[in-house]
Amino acid sequence: MPPVDHRQKAPRVSPPDEARLTPAMRQYWEQKQQVPDAILLFRMGDFYEMFYDDAELGARVLGITLTSRDNGRTALAGIPHHALDNYLAKLVAAGYKVAISEQIEEARVARGVVDRAVVRIVTPGTLTDEGLLERTRSNILAAVVEGEAGCGLAVLELASGRFVVQVCPTERLLDELNRADAAEVLLPEPASGRDPREADVRNQVGAVVTYRSAADFAPARAGELLREHFETVVLEGFGFHAIDASLQAAGGLVAYVRETQRAAARHLQPPRRADTADFMTLDAVTLRSLEIERTLRTGRREGSLLAAVDRTTNPMGARLLRQWLCYPLRDLGAIEERQRAVAALRADSRARDALRAALGKIGDIERIIGRLGVLRATPRDLRALGNGLVALRDLRTTLATLRSAACERWLAVLEGLDERGTELVTTLAAEPPATLREGGIFAAGYHAELDRLRGIQQDGQHWLAQYQAREVKRTGIASLKVAFNKVFGFYIEITNTHRNRVPADYVRKQTMKNAERYITEELKRYEAEALSAEARAHDIEYELFVALREALVPEIPALQSAARALAELDVLAGWAELASQRHHCRPVFVAEPVLELRGGRHPVLDLTLDTHFVANDTALRAGQHQALALITGPNMAGKSTYIRQVALLTLLAHCGAWVPAEAMQLGLVDRIFTRVGAADELARGQSTFMVEMVETANILHHATSHSLVILDEIGRGTSTFDGVALAWAITEHLATRCGSRTLFATHYHELTELSELLEPVFNLNVAVRKYEDQVVFLHRIVPGAAGRSYGLHVAKLAGVPRNVLERANAVLNELERTFARESQRPALAAVQRRRLRQLRLFEEPEETIVRELRELDAEAAETGQLVEKIQAWRRLLGSAASAANQAAGG
Ligand code: ADP
Repeated sequence: MPPVDHRQKAPRVSPPDEARLTPAMRQYWEQKQQVPDAILLFRMGDFYEMFYDDAELGARVLGITLTSRDNGRTALAGIPHHALDNYLAKLVAAGYKVAISEQIEEARVARGVVDRAVVRIVTPGTLTDEGLLERTRSNILAAVVEGEAGCGLAVLELASGRFVVQVCPTERLLDELNRADAAEVLLPEPASGRDPREADVRNQVGAVVTYRSAADFAPARAGELLREHFETVVLEGFGFHAIDASLQAAGGLVAYVRETQRAAARHLQPPRRADTADFMTLDAVTLRSLEIERTLRTGRREGSLLAAVDRTTNPMGARLLRQWLCYPLRDLGAIEERQRAVAALRADSRARDALRAALGKIGDIERIIGRLGVLRATPRDLRALGNGLVALRDLRTTLATLRSAACERWLAVLEGLDERGTELVTTLAAEPPATLREGGIFAAGYHAELDRLRGIQQDGQHWLAQYQAREVKRTGIASLKVAFNKVFGFYIEITNTHRNRVPADYVRKQTMKNAERYITEELKRYEAEALSAEARAHDIEYELFVALREALVPEIPALQSAARALAELDVLAGWAELASQRHHCRPVFVAEPVLELRGGRHPVLDLTLDTHFVANDTALRAGQHQALALITGPNMAGKSTYIRQVALLTLLAHCGAWVPAEAMQLGLVDRIFTRVGAADELARGQSTFMVEMVETANILHHATSHSLVILDEIGRGTSTFDGVALAWAITEHLATRCGSRTLFATHYHELTELSELLEPVFNLNVAVRKYEDQVVFLHRIVPGAAGRSYGLHVAKLAGVPRNVLERANAVLNELERTFARESQRPALAAVQRRRLRQLRLFEEPEETIVRELRELDAEAAETGQLVEKIQAWRRLLGSAASAANQAAGG
């Protein structure tokens, strides 16, 4: 029987008929019915057990043994409780939901079966446990509701409480889910079947889809959920005038969070509306092809822009950095505030070093606050929070020496928190446990009764030592030992050698291989007192801790603002470090739609090639002359590198970063479009050419005079004529209709003639020096079109066999001779330039006639048709001749 997959088939939620249920199994089935679509981990003693279908599935996914009980009728698989995080991580990474049922009363006080309850449901998009989260990657839950004005989208990072909503055009939904990096997407359950977007979300976003009752997303219900959760009377409180699809999505999302967390999630920030005018639009194609987060080739972070500009020392900063790079700003004020902070931090290396070191020690406050919000922060978490907050004192002192608006804002936000930190640090033990029930949480001196009970235990050590000494003396057995173990409690151990000297009042408790263990009345009395003191102390600590945690909840908003401030400081201090180490400059934004770089460098290659990287200038001006650069030059010369470099520096500039260049000046860009290498699309089963055209269509529809367009080779996947024709028309459209600042790297030398026909188009090429028989790539971008393409040289460098190269060379010479002969015809030299240049891209009249003659089936044609055809040919020849005569005559 194939294993059950919850995502494919509803698992069984009621017991098999023949089962006679024990009370515990009755409890199991009751809970399974509450969480039918989750794998239920049912706590039994030291294990979490899975039963039936869950056991089969769990065993398969986790690679653990599947056993059975009740004579093979009940499948069973278990995991030890201390290894829960490991196994949970695997199940969730495989896309499953896991419900955890805990024993909610102590076994020692339970009458009959221990009470259990599902305490939470862990899903791919609602992670808060440190062990399940990636340190530098946000875990995101999204919800989508189709509305009249587009798609309502709500995005929540549960671990931090960041909650953003927007209404986006339906065709941009996948782009937005992609850049939000959603791990799980909630969709309203369709009336029948599955939502057609499910497959796209899975394949293109890499997220799990969870269907939720459409009722949760209904406007009235969603509004009620939001008002209830955020304790507001009206939604205007967070800047919304009426409920729209994005708030419906937000409402459904809140319902899901409350259900899975089984806690109020009190750290959720009220939903904030993301205004599309605030951020540059970056579609999934651009994010991928500019290698912002990961490289195209390896899919890894190493080699990406993110890795190149990451100098953060705290995971909060690392996560914010990713977010900033994917959401470049369009608001000049906000950009310049970041720039100024980088300037202040760059100018003072001592302060910068001190701040970065402090940030490294502060820890991941943001995620601790998240766990606080769902009431799962552990004693260890709160001690770490305390330590982090205490460290703010020095950090603030350093920050106060810097002058910038951002620094002042951060200072204000961080004020007063170090005192809270001191309280936590003095309250909690130096190294408290990660659990709540085993004591050792609080520092001595915090609570009098706790101290007294601990005193009894400590005195106990003393008492036991004395008692042992007393009994050694009484019995004369020097090796007599008084000790304790969890199962048997206190005992006196006497080796068998001395068995005959054991006093009569010793009662035998346990027999060992070489010894016997005894108990006495006195020891029993002591045991009762000591154990009850310990249990009582644990209970007190538990209650105190829960109260302490609860008392921190109202402070969550202040702590969240602090965490955000620290993350911002971390990113910007990192950029300042980079700017200082790598000689970055501060981009200057101007009102004109220009893009000018002096000595620009590719942010990734600048690090790997260092001084070997050749810096290049750029000068684009939207609309007028110099809007669209056609870049020709041999393969491997550096065309792609150059155009990506311009895009990446533009993106960084909009994030408020400084850039690797001597100077940069630019007008704000609304959107960066790219159409580069589509190799990775092959896996998705679309032809390269098709993907290329889909991407191009998107650009032609949406690029504006404020956009930046980067094109790397268009039309490669089709015949040369098709390719040149398309590339030609696309260039014309971009130059005359869109007016965007555009860089177009191309193989088609034919296109370079466009510079003479269209004002905005100009040519660049990559300088190459020929040295004897070798070609040296200078990687320098220079004005003008490339002379030739050196494809054979590159083939030689790549090790293509000599005979093939020689033959290719001969073919090339022949082709070039033919081309030269044709282009020398006087008729073509001076004919009206625009018409003939365009014509030459297609067919000469003679070529058309010869082709049609070959294709003609003369036998089958009627005489009249043949005459007509001949007349058409004559007309064709006549028009070409008269065009030539006109040109020659004047
Ligand atoms: P093309 O697009 O013209 O085929 P690429 O941009 O892919 O060429 O560049 C090929 C290689 O040349 C790059 O991998 C890089 O190693 C090197 N290169 C490109 N530009 C530069 C530069 N400005 N300075 C130094 N090396 C460069």
